Amino acid sequence: MDNCLFCKIAAEQIPAKIIYQDEDVLAFEDINPQAPHHILLISRRHIPSISDLTPEDGPLLAHLFTVANKLSIKMGLGEGGYRFVTNVGPDAGQSVFHLHFHLLGGRKLSWPPG
Ligand code: 5GP
Ligand code: ZN
Repeated sequence: MDNCLFCKIAAEQIPAKIIYQDEDVLAFEDINPQAPHHILLISRRHIPSISDLTPEDGPLLAHLFTVANKLSIKMGLGEGGYRFVTNVGPDAGQSVFHLHFHLLGGRKLSWPPG
């Protein structure tokens, strides 16, 4: 989609520290990390947020979660754990309207989030 930051990162029109990619999904480092490990996982296809998902997106979501699990193990977060979250809409502070999941880890994370 034109004018979407994460579509441009997926198309490599804007640089990012990509740590994993395949034909459907991409993982890259957040530009403003909130934890020692802060990775964003996205689908290549433009989906604005959870609100736009359909049942047909089930396999894509399963794939995103599976990739997140593999990356967390690779980053050494298997034992300590991590958080995997997505913000939806203004109350949650969503600032980029291309569905993305934050994988945060490497420190103790407080709950509930602010
Ligand atoms: P949201 O607030 O929508 O849940 O998350 C958007 C995330 O994208 C933020 O954590 C922000 O730091 C990150 N971000 C914004 N612009 C860029 C960018 O140009 N490159 C990268 N790698 N991350 C970005
Ligand atoms: Zn997009």
